Amino acid sequence: MKPSSSRGTSLWQDRPEPIADEPLPQGAVVDDIVVGAGITGLTTALLLARAGRRVVVLDAGVVGSLASGHTTAKVSLLQGTKYSRMLRYQSKQVARAYVEGNLEGQQWMLRFCDDHGVPYQVRDAVTYASSPEQRSTLDDELQASRTVGLDTYAVRELDVPFPQFGGVVLPDQAQIDPMDLLSALVDQIRAHGGSVHQGHRVVGVTHRGRRVVRLEDGTSLDADHVVLATGTPILDRGLYFAKLEPMRSYALAFDAPDVVVPHGMYLSAGSPSRSVRDAPGGKLVIGGSGHSVGRTSSERAHVDELRAWTAVHFPGATETHTWSAQDYRSHDSVPYIGPMPRGGGRIYVATGFDKWGMAAGVMAGRSISAEILDQAPSWQKTMSRRVTGPSGAFHVASINAKVGAAAAVSAVSAELKPAPAEPAEGEGIVGRRGVVPVGVSTVDGTTCAVRAICTHLGGVLEWNDNERTWDCPLHASRFAPDGTVIEGPAVRPLTRLDESPAPTAQEQS
Ligand SMILES: Cc1cc2nc3c(=O)[nH]c(=O)nc-3n(C[C@H](O)[C@H](O)[C@H](O)COP(=O)(O)OP(=O)(O)OC[C@H]3O[C@@H](n4cnc5c(N)ncnc54)[C@H](O)[C@@H]3O)c2cc1C
Repeated sequence: MKPSSSRGTSLWQDRPEPIADEPLPQGAVVDDIVVGAGITGLTTALLLARAGRRVVVLDAGVVGSLASGHTTAKVSLLQGTKYSRMLRYQSKQVARAYVEGNLEGQQWMLRFCDDHGVPYQVRDAVTYASSPEQRSTLDDELQASRTVGLDTYAVRELDVPFPQFGGVVLPDQAQIDPMDLLSALVDQIRAHGGSVHQGHRVVGVTHRGRRVVRLEDGTSLDADHVVLATGTPILDRGLYFAKLEPMRSYALAFDAPDVVVPHGMYLSAGSPSRSVRDAPGGKLVIGGSGHSVGRTSSERAHVDELRAWTAVHFPGATETHTWSAQDYRSHDSVPYIGPMPRGGGRIYVATGFDKWGMAAGVMAGRSISAEILDQAPSWQKTMSRRVTGPSGAFHVASINAKVGAAAAVSAVSAELKPAPAEPAEGEGIVGRRGVVPVGVSTVDGTTCAVRAICTHLGGVLEWNDNERTWDCPLHASRFAPDGTVIEGPAVRPLTRLDESPAPTAQEQS
């Protein structure tokens, strides 16, 4: 089974041994089903298994298929310009609860690493100004990070080979190889009687006394509690998709034995974002250049931009890996963690980590498992009882206005072209056959035609020229060229038009 999120294998996933799979238990009695084997799902599952509960983890792809296997894996409480943004929408009390939860998540993770031989490196985290204009953003973040209780300090000049105009520093944070961590979590779940299963897509959860989890192959499993740790939630209850901003970004790894790689974890305070860290074995990892999923003219251009930047500032570094992934920002920059509306208090969700889900994913695992075990931490109660003020409500409206605009742009651009017969290698084009938007692509010599309408809420899909996928500009569902679901709120594949009957007369009219 191959990782499904990206054509590019991440530095972390490039390992000799895949994580072993095990057959699904037939007719087993299960207490909790965790959907999603990223950092959030696996931490939740381990904490429940350690408490003696019978836990099953299901993942549509492999362990670490999506964000957790494609992250830059800084385990930091200084998180770019997170706190100045959060304080625009939320009270100090909520922001401090977020920091408290992250601290607990970070400490738990590092203790787990110490106990199970998972390597990590201690590094200072730095948010830096990449232009003079970003200095005021930096000042705001210094102030905000201190307000939420972090011991940050300002530096006027950083000793780094890329342009900088000062930084905010939080010492003694950490960086990891996330697949080392996920692999150790899987081992520990299994050691505590839980099980982890790969290649099983969940398509729905219903109530019939217990929660019934329906799988793509038509089978089902039931449990007392279901935890959706799927990145964006796969159920529409709670309308999380309408409060999340999906952001895709890029990373490259380089061999850099003769290059001076700065000994810290850096993130620029503005756009275009630049993330820099080292990795064991003389590696350099550069990330950033993010954008809203499906709303850019060329994804490949974002990778090229990072590549060109690295060539200028780290000459001599040799590229070894390139990958990309997406994560979701909540309307107020605080993740959504807890019971889902209309889930009878037994279906939990964790999303909205805003590219800071390493410590926060563990925080979510701690929080959900504690709630199931009836011991919710006080920081979680503060976060889950938060209210959305006028600025937050305005932000939700603006997220949806952008979705509306993106829907109109993609629908109009599909309207303009007839569907092509056979695009060039690596290309995908949306055009019309009758009134039906049809996406035709050629990848590795195979041409596929699909109905280019997202199976979640009907957005017209855009071709991602870097990953060679169909991406929805509305809520970030993604599909392979043959229509298979990769990720996002969608759980049903696209209709293949070259295999199935031609569009119906109604569609043609
Ligand atoms: C480019 C990038 C860089 C980042 N860098 C950092 C960083 O330096 N530090 C940091 O703290 N955070 C970082 N993040 C964020 C962090 O990686 C994520 O917040 C975190 O990994 C989210 O973990 P998760 O377990 O919640 O979700 P994921 O890791 O996305 O896991 C979700 C899992 O659910 C599975 N799934 C989805 N749908 C279904 C379904 N229907 N049925 C079954 N399974 C399903 C998927 O296959 C996947 O394995 C970064 C994110 C990105 C995109």
